Amino acid sequence: MAEKLTPREKGFSEWYVDLIQKAKLADYSDVKGCMVIRPNGYALWENIQRVMDKMFKDEGVRNAYFPLLIPESYLKKEAEHVEGFNPQLAIVTHAGGQKLEEPYVIRPTSETIINRSFSKWIQSYRDLPLLLNQWANVMRWEMRTRLFLRTTEFLWQEGHTCHETEEDAEKRTLTMLEVYRTFAEDYMAMPVLPGRKTESEKFAGALRTYSIEAMMQDKKALQAGTSHNLGQNFAKAFDTQFQGRDGQQHHVWQTSWGSSTRLIGGLILTHSDDAGLIVPPKLAATHVVIIPVGIGGKAPEAEKAQVLEKVHALAADLRKAGLGVVVDDDETKTPGFKYNEHELTGTCVRIELGPKDLAKSSCVMVRRDLRQKEFVPLDEAVTKVQAMLDQMQKDLFKKAKDFRDAHTFEVNSFEELKAKADDGFLLAHWDGDAKTEARIKEETGLTTRCRPFSLKQEPGKCVMTGNPSQGRIVFSKAY
Ligand code: AMP
Repeated sequence: MAEKLTPREKGFSEWYVDLIQKAKLADYSDVKGCMVIRPNGYALWENIQRVMDKMFKDEGVRNAYFPLLIPESYLKKEAEHVEGFNPQLAIVTHAGGQKLEEPYVIRPTSETIINRSFSKWIQSYRDLPLLLNQWANVMRWEMRTRLFLRTTEFLWQEGHTCHETEEDAEKRTLTMLEVYRTFAEDYMAMPVLPGRKTESEKFAGALRTYSIEAMMQDKKALQAGTSHNLGQNFAKAFDTQFQGRDGQQHHVWQTSWGSSTRLIGGLILTHSDDAGLIVPPKLAATHVVIIPVGIGGKAPEAEKAQVLEKVHALAADLRKAGLGVVVDDDETKTPGFKYNEHELTGTCVRIELGPKDLAKSSCVMVRRDLRQKEFVPLDEAVTKVQAMLDQMQKDLFKKAKDFRDAHTFEVNSFEELKAKADDGFLLAHWDGDAKTEARIKEETGLTTRCRPFSLKQEPGKCVMTGNPSQGRIVFSKAY
């Protein structure tokens, strides 16, 4: 039998770590806060990259690559940026056996070094907009790390754009947030709330930060992607200027936006169950496993050959339809062992095929999330698998959305906020003061997630101070 996971009811955190390790998604390393991403986990990242990269390119963004090491002085050019990132920096002071004249910072994000290039590349409004993305690793010296969700080194994409006007920059900020929303909902089957972050939760150096916020199965929030309107802050620090249509010099207006391997943590925490990983079909590397059954031990050779021939023919047909297919004909393992193994690693559909099925020209199909057997005529197998995968993608989204909606509440007093602190997303009035926000966090463990665009803003009274509030905001415990 494959190893059992700690059930979610017994310990949600233990279940999460258990799943990641037993499904061979990632492993701990000896480097503080850093993880090893194993092939099963990396395959998910590759699919995330493939889909997102296409979405970025469809929005006119092109990929580039900048150095890992950033001269320390660059970070100091933007006051808020350096203040925000300073505690999280890893710094290289020696190289080639010698102390460096100027230390290098391992990039925690690349606004500064990219602006150094932008200031050389941009001369005129004809050079704008400039739309770049970088797929890279970054390092932030995080204190409390958790596999995928928060690591000191993580893989991500960071988009950086320059525009002629403030309006263009704001538009791009929101366009990329919408790309994240679409990716999260249509591919990850993870419902999210797009909205604006508060001043104290915004990116260091940004004018405004927007995020998409998802609810995990333990009702905690996950910030799954952020998009920043940087205004002219970095442009001024790096003197990134262009000659405008009016013949005058202007600083460019900029955006940056990022999402990371944290998304894999989000995917696990949204859909998986006590048997293991559940992957939305649109991001799965293996859609189907075909397991030959009833041909072990004393089964006649001719029967065995017939089953295996059909198994491989079916695999070929499914592959032709564009699906990821594995034939698990390892004779040293029992079918039961294989079922558990593929449930653990999140193969979307399992097909069982044996002599009895062959005699009836049918096979057994089991959808990973439902775990119920269905008998399917062999000549309908390919269309049936495709329909199953489509339905599974839809059902996973619906299940996650119903769960989020069932755990979203309006609360109207501080007592209620405190009492419901672990219950999900709490929509409450807040006076907009960072001090009130900090007090609420201290007393309840709740943080502001975002002010969702979809949440109608009506005036009210702050649950903590009773001061006027412009509208409700989402509070939640968060990863
Ligand atoms: P930021 O540049 O701070 O806006 O981060 C961009 C995105 O990267 C965030 O929205 C997170 O999804 C992700 N992220 C931030 N810090 C970490 C971390 N330590 N580990 C993994 N992902 C992270």
